[in-house]
Parts: sequence; C-alpha cells; structure tokens
Amino acid sequence: MTRPSILDEVLTSAGCSGETDPGDRPRFAVTNPATGDRLGHVPDMGRSEVHKAVRSAKVAFPVWSRKTAKERAAILRRWYELIHSRVDDLAQLLTLEQGKPFNEARGEILYGASYIEWFAEEAKRIEGDILPTTGPDRRMLVLKQPIGVVAAITPWNFPSAMISRKLAPALAAGCTVVIKPAEDTPLSALALAQLAKRAGLPDGALNVVTSVRAAETGEVLTSHPDIRKLSFTGSTRVGKLLMRQCAETVKKVSLELGGNAPFIVFEDADLDAAAAGAMLCKFRNAGQTCVSANRFYVHASVLDAFADKLAERMTALKVGQGLDEDTTVGPLINPAAIDKVEGLVDDAVAKGARARLGGGRHARGGNFFEPTVLENLDDTMEIARAEIFGPVVTLIPFEEEADAIQMANDTPYGLAAYFYTQNMARIWRVTEALEYGMVGLNESVLSGENAPFGGMKESGIGREGSKYGIEEYVEMKYLCHGGLGA
Ligand code: NAP
Repeated sequence: MTRPSILDEVLTSAGCSGETDPGDRPRFAVTNPATGDRLGHVPDMGRSEVHKAVRSAKVAFPVWSRKTAKERAAILRRWYELIHSRVDDLAQLLTLEQGKPFNEARGEILYGASYIEWFAEEAKRIEGDILPTTGPDRRMLVLKQPIGVVAAITPWNFPSAMISRKLAPALAAGCTVVIKPAEDTPLSALALAQLAKRAGLPDGALNVVTSVRAAETGEVLTSHPDIRKLSFTGSTRVGKLLMRQCAETVKKVSLELGGNAPFIVFEDADLDAAAAGAMLCKFRNAGQTCVSANRFYVHASVLDAFADKLAERMTALKVGQGLDEDTTVGPLINPAAIDKVEGLVDDAVAKGARARLGGGRHARGGNFFEPTVLENLDDTMEIARAEIFGPVVTLIPFEEEADAIQMANDTPYGLAAYFYTQNMARIWRVTEALEYGMVGLNESVLSGENAPFGGMKESGIGREGSKYGIEEYVEMKYLCHGGLGA
C-alpha cells in the first residue's frame, strides 16, 4: 500500500505526526476497518477545546461574513480546485479510514467538491426583496444575512461529502463553522480543512473538533449560546436527542437522519433496469448509505425473475479491501456494525426467512459480510423494520399497487424511495402517494449538488444542496424604513 501524502500532512497539522506522542494531550487512534491497521492518532478533544473552537468561530464571523459574496466565492472556488488537484490522494485516505472501494471514494470526493463549486456560485445569489410599500412615507425590504456560528456533526459513512455538503453552503452564506466528524473517520475532515486553509479561508472560519467524546462535545455544541444553528447528519436516535438539546437555546436545526428506503418493482417494470438499479442502490458503500434500498417490494408475478437477475449480478461482486483494484464491496465500518447486520439476518432466519444468497459473515473474516438476499420475510422480523446498513437485500412480494404503497409508507422514516414501472398513470399515482423527500423513478442514484437532498417524517428537517440549500444558513430580516415623507 502506498501511503497517501495527505495523511502525513493531516497528522502533522493535527500535531500527531507519525507515532510520536504529542505530549500529555489525549489522542485516539484511527484504524483501517479492512485490516485493523492503525493509520495514526488525532487529538481527543473535549469540552474546553469545543469552547475554544466556538470562540474562534465567533471571532472569525465578522471577518468572514463581511467579505463580499464574490470574495467568499473565490475562496470556495480555490478550495474546490485544490480538492480536485488532490482527488486521488484524498480518495485513498478516505478508503483507508472508511473502507469503501477506491473508485467509490474518488466519486465521493468529487461529489462533495461539487457542492463547494455549486455554493461558491450560489454565494453570489443570496438575494433579498423589496416589498410593495403600505404607505408613501416608508419602504419595506427583506435582507438575507448569515445566521452566525454553525455547529456541524457528521457520520462516518461519507466522511468527506457529508462535511462538504454542510460547509459549502454555510461558508458561502458567510457563516463560520465548528465541525465534529465521526470518531471512526476524522482524517478526511482534517484533510478538507487543511485544503480550505490553503485556499485562503481565514483563521477560525472553520474549526474541526476530533473526539471520541460525542456526547460531551455534542452537549456543548447544542447548548452554547454563541452557536445559532446545528446541522446534523446521522441516526434518527441521535438527531432527536440533539434537537431536544437545541430547544433550550432555540437553535435553528437541519437534520439529515436515517432512512428505510423502499424499492418497488411493479409487474410492468423493465426488470433488467430494476436489477441494475438495485445493485447500485444496495451495494454502494456495502449498503451503508442513508438512501440504500432497504426493503424490496416486488410484484409476486415477477419476483423470481427479478431475484434471478439480481443474483446473477451479485455473483460478480468482489468483497475485499477498498484499495484492491477489483473490490466492489468493502468491509463494514467496525465490529459493532457487523454484529448488528449479523444479528438482523440471524433473527430473520430463525423466524423463517431463507437466504437465497449469502447469509453471514464473509470468509475473509474481520468486518466483511457476504452480499445476501433474504426471502420469506414477515413483520415479526426486526429486519423488516430496521435500517439494515449492510449488503443485505430483503425480498417481499406484493399483489396490488395499493399494498405496495401502504407497506412502503409504513415506517417512521421518509428519506428516499425508488420504484420501477413503465405505466404513466401509475408513475404519478405512486410518486404523489409516497411519503418521501426523494423519489427515484426508474432510477436509483438520485443525489447531486443541484438537487434538494433531505427527508420527511423522522428522516429529517431541511434540505442540502440545490438553490434551496443556502436558505438553511441565512436569517431573513425585515427592514421597515419609515419617515421618508409623503
Ligand atoms: P450516529 O451514531 O447518529 O452518529 C453521527 C454523528 O453523531 C457522529 O459524529 C457521532 O459521533 C455523533 N454522535 C453520536 N452520539 C452523539 C451524542 N450523544 N451527542 C452528539 N453527537 C453524537 O450515526 P452513524 O452511525 O455515524 O451514521 C449512520 C446514520 O446516519 C444512519 O442512520 C444513516 O441513515 C444516517 N445518515 C443520514 C444521511 C442523510 O443525509 N439523511 C446521510 C448519511 C448518513 P461518533 O462517531 O464519535 O460516535
């Protein structure tokens, strides 16, 4: 394995280069989930470091927010270009700390960077309004201003893109940020921050808090009066907790939470397209994405044909280390993740489910799980309701369109849903009936910087990306200018 040069730069900037002990400061190890190898150490920050980071973001706020939109845009654009110039290096680092195949990691870096490019452009389009006046002696205006210091807390499954998706609109709007990445994957966050600094972001505008003390750091970030907004991506359980904590200081919140995506294959679907879509949607990141298809509802008349097409494609999957060229499915993130997926599959099989393919840990051992297809499922099984977050397909037959819609909506989640059909009237009926923030119609890869990403119900609040995304980071101020005479 070649060591990405950015790894050493990041460890040096974090004051933890190589194996040298940075003194008596607490630190924690970051490991490769495919091998268990240690990649290095980063500082384990706590309450006092978070307070320091918030202070620094507060001091930087007037400096950054008073720059013109064009100046901010130019810095973001330079950041985007720097990321592009180091894409392979960054992707290698991402694979090493997260496990996903190198090509997927590369895709994630470019995807994340596309938000920086997009919001560099959007920075120049944060426009207010002039309202028709209610009297001749007054004028009425709406200003849009950056909300202030933003806290961001992000998960490990997209260690780079989940961060750029937040930082780009926040910084474009003129906010400054304190970001707490997941403890499993802090290196990609540090790498992004380092390139941002090189691009010209002023000191204090972006502060990274690396920590294994999520509850402690989260408590400060959600209660600190100088933080005006929390943007969180992660599980619904933690999202609810943070929302409650934010209530005390009435912070604005954006929440990108868990999903439980249905993938419906109607009897009139193009089954080859549906099977190809299912592969992309289920096995990317070993099934560890919030928009992964989680429940496959397939019309009973085409279930066997669809399952055969899927199984045929699945035999081509190659489970392995992300940096091996032919790997298409990497490891799960950590031992707890593999225990969880194994537990869900074992529970289902004990209650009568059949494994059509796979069904357990992969022969490679460690954090690797076999790509699996389960059938004969019923509602008593936990897997029928849980967010699986692993490479497991659950096949559930249906007879009537209304039943498929009812089952698809029968969950507290509402992030992404997919369906395959060629019937025009059904397309509109089903699209309108699905209680989801994003719907893939004959398409299973939805996300892009120009589209609003986000969920309904317990999958979250707010949208990331698109022309709507910047609104999450601005306050509207109404100005009534009176005394102007008749
Ligand atoms: P998680 O356990 O909720 O963790 C997410 C982040 O919250 C991590 O930085 C974590 O820190 C931190 N955290 C955990 N407990 C906390 C607490 N008590 N107070 C403050 N912060 C806390 O989620 P995950 O397992 O990392 O990520 C997977 C989940 O994210 C899935 O449910 C997935 O669907 C969701 N997700 C949603 C989207 C979306 O856009 N809707 C995108 C990606 C992922 P530590 O890592 O240090 O524990």
